[in-house]
Amino acid sequence: MAKIQTPQAVRGTQDMFGETEERFAHVVATFERVRRLYGFKGLQLPVIEPTAVFSRSLGEATDVVSKEMYTFEDRGGDSITLRPEFTAGIARAYLTNGWQQYAPMKLSVHGPLFRYERPQKGRYRQFHQIDAEIIGAAEPAADVELLVMADQLLKELGIDDGVTLQLNTLGDTPSRDAWRTALVGYFNDHKDVLSEDSLARLEKNPLRILDSKDPKDRPVADAAPVIDDYLSGEAQDFFGAVTAGLDAAGVAWTRNAALVRGLDYYRHTAFEFVTDRLGAQGTVLGGGRYDGLIENLGGPATPAVGWAAGIERLAMLVEAPASIVPDVAVAIEFRDAEPQGQKIVAALRRSGLSVEMLAQGSPKKRYDKAIKTNAKVVMSISDMGVRYSGDKYPDVFSQVNEVLVSIAEELKKR
Ligand code: ATP
Ligand code: MG
Repeated sequence: MAKIQTPQAVRGTQDMFGETEERFAHVVATFERVRRLYGFKGLQLPVIEPTAVFSRSLGEATDVVSKEMYTFEDRGGDSITLRPEFTAGIARAYLTNGWQQYAPMKLSVHGPLFRYERPQKGRYRQFHQIDAEIIGAAEPAADVELLVMADQLLKELGIDDGVTLQLNTLGDTPSRDAWRTALVGYFNDHKDVLSEDSLARLEKNPLRILDSKDPKDRPVADAAPVIDDYLSGEAQDFFGAVTAGLDAAGVAWTRNAALVRGLDYYRHTAFEFVTDRLGAQGTVLGGGRYDGLIENLGGPATPAVGWAAGIERLAMLVEAPASIVPDVAVAIEFRDAEPQGQKIVAALRRSGLSVEMLAQGSPKKRYDKAIKTNAKVVMSISDMGVRYSGDKYPDVFSQVNEVLVSIAEELKKR
């Protein structure tokens, strides 16, 4: 008989289990806790969006739109894209639902995203992000709040060591346009020494040459005109207010005048939290202000700022969470005791304790199995009655005791 080929996972996807899944869940749980401290509301959004949501907002020239999107025609003939990032979908939802009435809105979301990239360590085709946005706030205080929250999150995850906040301003639209023109002129004068990738960027996305990783580009990129010489007074004041806010809140930052974000829609503040611990995939959290995005989608001019962080990359950096042990392990050592065991286990769980019940395999081996779970309290139900021990955890022990006493009292009443 021909052997049936077992199906493989799609390249660039991960099946997470055990420690990998626990690290991932720890990042999400920490984010969910911290975002509530800052009053960010949760969101659940579709994974699929009309393709125009991304092509119109991210810009056709970006890596994401030009080569990374999972786009397909559905059975009704509509062009659909699996979301490659959150911001554009959030902006779409804001317009679809008329959320202008709630502005300014502090929103948070997490979930899967899809990009057709070359898979490697820290780079997948299905990956996951946590994301926070403030929509409808023009003041630098919004940028500061988001950055302080990001800083607290990384500290609570215990990964702030070796991670630095790199900050830049891309100016307002007139400043950014003047800088861009200067950059195109400068890079045109140095065309002969640019890498092939950067020559292509010169046509489509010249700012991106500044953060080229190709050693060939570095000397030219490092000597390129800086935004500072093109900043309007207003843009300077904005950036000054952001940095003053960070200083006041005690958030460390460094200026990186070459920091530009991959997407076209950024204005004013742009930032990345960068680590040297993940090799080439060093950005763990990035974002900035995108005042023009909602207008690009056909909505009213709406200021907004936000950030996103890759959950897989954060999960690689956190310490492995302590492995989870049950509060109680219950060994049913005697077949006829099973109904009594079920009753006790259900009552323990209803009281809020986590319980593992061992009622399979040879009755003689069940107690050993219960010990092996490392449970805080180990209980045996046998023909000798109910016995349990666990003096290292007096709180759990007395809670178990209370549950058993109340079962006994209830039985007495009958
Ligand atoms: P990179 O330069 O690494 O490609 P990017 O600029 O494309 O990053 P963003 O679009 O800003 O990344 O996404 C924010 C964060 O999402 C990144 O800093 C990273 O942590 C994570 N991320 C982006 N792409 C991937 C991917 N393919 N796999 C895993 N994580 C990713
Ligand atoms: Mg990328």
